[in-house]
Amino acid sequence: MKTETALSLLINGQLHATARTLTVVDPATGQAFAQAPDCSTEQLDLAIQSARHAFPAWRLMGIQNRRLLLQQAASRLSQHTDSLARLLSQEQGKPLKDALAEVSGTVQWLGAQTQMELPELVNEDTQDRRSITRRVPLGVVAALAPWNFPVLLAWWKVFPALLAGNTVVLKPSPMTPLTVLKMGELLADLFPAGVLNVISGGDALGPLLTAHPGIDKISFTGSTQTGRAVMRGAADRLQRLTLELGGNDPAIVLPDVDPQAIAPKLFWAAFYNSGQICIATKRLYIHSSIYEPVAQALADYARTVKLGPGLEADSQLGPIQNRRQYERVLQLIEECKSQGLKLLFQGTAPAQGFFVPITLVDNPPEEARVVSEEAFGPVLPLLRYDSIDEAIERANHSPYGLGATVWGQDTEQAMQVAQRLEAGTVWVNEAQYLNPFAAFAGHKASGLGVEHGLEGFLSYTAPQTLVLKKS
Ligand code: NAD
Repeated sequence: MKTETALSLLINGQLHATARTLTVVDPATGQAFAQAPDCSTEQLDLAIQSARHAFPAWRLMGIQNRRLLLQQAASRLSQHTDSLARLLSQEQGKPLKDALAEVSGTVQWLGAQTQMELPELVNEDTQDRRSITRRVPLGVVAALAPWNFPVLLAWWKVFPALLAGNTVVLKPSPMTPLTVLKMGELLADLFPAGVLNVISGGDALGPLLTAHPGIDKISFTGSTQTGRAVMRGAADRLQRLTLELGGNDPAIVLPDVDPQAIAPKLFWAAFYNSGQICIATKRLYIHSSIYEPVAQALADYARTVKLGPGLEADSQLGPIQNRRQYERVLQLIEECKSQGLKLLFQGTAPAQGFFVPITLVDNPPEEARVVSEEAFGPVLPLLRYDSIDEAIERANHSPYGLGATVWGQDTEQAMQVAQRLEAGTVWVNEAQYLNPFAAFAGHKASGLGVEHGLEGFLSYTAPQTLVLKKS
């Protein structure tokens, strides 16, 4: 399937074609299926200049007026969820129902984000003086997103940044630019020119955008390695930063769980989106007293799950999104085999496209790469532990600290374990539940700063204290 029309960049309220294009590959076939615009350096300059030019009036417009426009934007996007989901499924690979959940979930989330308010604090109010601290926008925000949830992770940044009074240049991943560009096109005439710019390009565009002197804040979601490069680049101009980076989330399964009941929940915590989730369970610690039954129930459940192209109705898991990651995950599995590690289960996968079979690894050592690195694919190490203290120590023994889960029927005990885990979000008896009003923050090498909640909203602002001497 080809995309119906060539997509364009959105710069200064106008749709722009480009001299060069990027090839977008369908991961279910491994074949090119569309072209996306490749933004030139002149077009990048123009996008940033127009965002700078639009900033003063947008800032002065006031939060209520901005809120109304953003609500209209969410409502307009909600009328196109089906066609956006098809495009997303094809470029990202995920099953259509999951693509629809991503697009509709994003639109609902954006609607909720528009309700946020900026606080104003009265520090002092006396006969002599009034001092308040309010929040002011930062200027031009560069928003950069990865390829695993291309729509959600990109637009999550845009609405709070705009609501707070900033203007935005949004750049999706070169692997998955289409749906985000399409959404930019749908909103092209809604905002004053330059307030929202959407650009796409190859690997060179990200560094050019983040290093541009016209950018005041970078909101980046991607790998820890790239996050470090972005942070180094931001040092010279002291650009504000939010970094949402990689994770290697542990799950601790306590001895009192019911293996049959828990297996599907553990499975989807690890394998939803074919494991390509920053907050997927990537290390599964199971108490030795129930290790065998939980492992068996997981393998039995895994056997029932169907891999296939996202647009085929019965597919439950799609391919890995791109060739580089596909080869990396396959290599990780090959390394397990060559090191003599036992595979508890390995499924089958379509031969065409970037499909990796579901793989469960039986109690590998902590030093094995499949444990110590973020796999970001459908391979999960099951790890046996004897005491809860030991499980907590091993779970925390990671440079990452994004999320974690604890599973147990004694919820008091599970909550005690949760509080000892070094992670920005810890779930008990569920996984990956997020809320627009709850802070999401990576600890350790999983990030810097916060997205969502009041703290996330405030990260698109700076405090400004105004002091009035009354007499
Ligand atoms: P990536 O770091 O390769 O790319 C992310 C974005 O940054 C893309 O838009 C890319 O074009 C751009 N980019 C690449 N190099 C750049 C540079 N030097 N300077 C500026 N921009 C640059 O990440 P990816 O491979 O697309 O995504 C997978 C990673 O993202 C995984 O590690 C995953 O855990 C992480 N992730 C984190 C979260 C979170 O919220 N913490 C969410 C999803 C994914």
